[in-house]
Amino acid sequence: MSARILVVDDIETNRRLLEARLTAEYFDVLMAPDGPTCLDLARSEKPDVILLDIMMPGMDGFETCRRLKSDPESRHIPVVMVTALDERTDRIRGLEAGADEFLTKPVDDVALFARVRSLLRLTSVMDELRQRESNGVEMLPYEPANGDGRVVVAAADQAAAHRIARALPASLDAHGYGDPRIAISQARHADLVIVDLSSPRFDGLRLCARIRSDVETRQVPLLGVVDEMDKRTMVRALDLGVNDVISRPLDPGELSARSATQLKRKRYADALRDRLDESLEMSVRDALTGLFNRRYTVSRLRQALDGLRTNHEPVTTALIDIDHFKRINDTWGHNAGDQVLKEICARLSEQLRAIDIAGRYGGEEFLVVFSNTTARDACDAMERARLAVCATPVTLRETGDIINVTMSVGVAEAFLEDSVEALIERADTALYEAKRSGRNRVIEAKRKAA
Ligand code: GH3
Ligand code: MG
Ligand code: MG
Repeated sequence: MSARILVVDDIETNRRLLEARLTAEYFDVLMAPDGPTCLDLARSEKPDVILLDIMMPGMDGFETCRRLKSDPESRHIPVVMVTALDERTDRIRGLEAGADEFLTKPVDDVALFARVRSLLRLTSVMDELRQRESNGVEMLPYEPANGDGRVVVAAADQAAAHRIARALPASLDAHGYGDPRIAISQARHADLVIVDLSSPRFDGLRLCARIRSDVETRQVPLLGVVDEMDKRTMVRALDLGVNDVISRPLDPGELSARSATQLKRKRYADALRDRLDESLEMSVRDALTGLFNRRYTVSRLRQALDGLRTNHEPVTTALIDIDHFKRINDTWGHNAGDQVLKEICARLSEQLRAIDIAGRYGGEEFLVVFSNTTARDACDAMERARLAVCATPVTLRETGDIINVTMSVGVAEAFLEDSVEALIERADTALYEAKRSGRNRVIEAKRKAA
């Protein structure tokens, strides 16, 4: 599907002109003659990029942009402001209204297509992240940058890098580097990297390409500094994946506005990614105890059995059941039961190694997967856990009441051709034996005669 571009201009000739040029490049074009129509179309048609004229009667471009960026339905759509004036104050006002890009009329085709392509790349990354967010989760606010951020400036030499770094707002933690190798290693911890592309003594484009290809710096926003008339470098930079370019002579106001835009986007993408990690984490965890859930634990046991077949590393599993838990609920109430469950799980986890997987298998039943562990070692670990549970009673938070708790454990080591079901079945039989013979004990399943 080709990208959809919304062209907003009060003069029909201007709209038709841009439409013809964009259509020739196989973009789908929508048009609006004024700000209010633009806001309607942004909501209903969800274009990929908006080209917005500044000077329009009624609602001007700045106001339209501000409204687009404050509406959760449209704030993620990149806005390119198109101005007849090459006034820097205009640019800064536009960037402050939330504009992502700037183009000067008459619009130069090469610059136009390079900007649009670079914005579309960004949109597709953001769209993917948004889609990966689970359904029904409310959108993150597109928060304005609050001024802080780590910025790395790379230029031909230290002095040139410092000059750019000094032009940034003092609230940013900016450092200049004259050595590209140091700049790259610093870029790993940066929120924004500014690269000087205007010096013949320094191959800034190569540095940008390296930053984009290294997995550790692939996501960091890049801002290129180019010479005013150097369209060629500007286009190559944007095509290489540089997020934005600014031209010399550098205006500190424009530099800080463009940096703020990039930092804001980075924060937005980071927040989406964090939330994704969190929802992945939630999908494998049990909410009450914080242990893994049953599905995840069983899948890890299945993986461990694959490991046994390929590397012959022993795999052992343990099934744990709290003794007379129903009585605890009946005597102290369900909330007390929940507290006991949490406390027992915490004590159990303390006795396990980081590589052991402990999961909630049922109400008061837990399954432990021990990789590269024999039944003997697993029994030792379970014996420690059993003692950790029965040696100290659980004290209820609200009432201070004291509850004695014990647990029974069945341990089974896997055979080479074992299935997950058969292995858990043997652990369950051993657990039943532990219950039958008096509870509060660890029993190892009988080994099958070879
Ligand atoms: P046994 O020693 O034979 O294991 O006896 P038991 O009472 O522990 O076993 P039973 O399976 O009869 O009872 C388990 C109880 O655990 C029943 C159920 O209501 C309770 N239970 C299951 N999940 C939860 C939970 O999340 N919170 C609380 N408070 N209780 C739970
Ligand atoms: Mg029980
Ligand atoms: Mg039970």
